[in-house]
Amino acid sequence: MIGDIGGVDLPPTCSRAGCRLPAVWNINWRNPRIHGPERVKVWLACDDHRDYLRDYLATRDFPVLVTPLAQHVVDGALS
Ligand SMILES: [Zn+2]
Repeated sequence: MIGDIGGVDLPPTCSRAGCRLPAVWNINWRNPRIHGPERVKVWLACDDHRDYLRDYLATRDFPVLVTPLAQHVVDGALS
């Protein structure tokens, strides 16, 4: 984007600690204990860690929805 402050736009990388692979998935989630249904948090994941991150959240009974990187969910989608 022309005029962006901050110089080079780095490609988004995976949210998994220590992983520097480019992200190709959104891990959309929320914590029902602290977030209302209107809130959606987003982690980014590479192919290798998509399932890891999804399972990490799912085992905590958090609503989680995986979408391609370019596809954002609307607020309230995880109600
Ligand atoms: Zn990764």
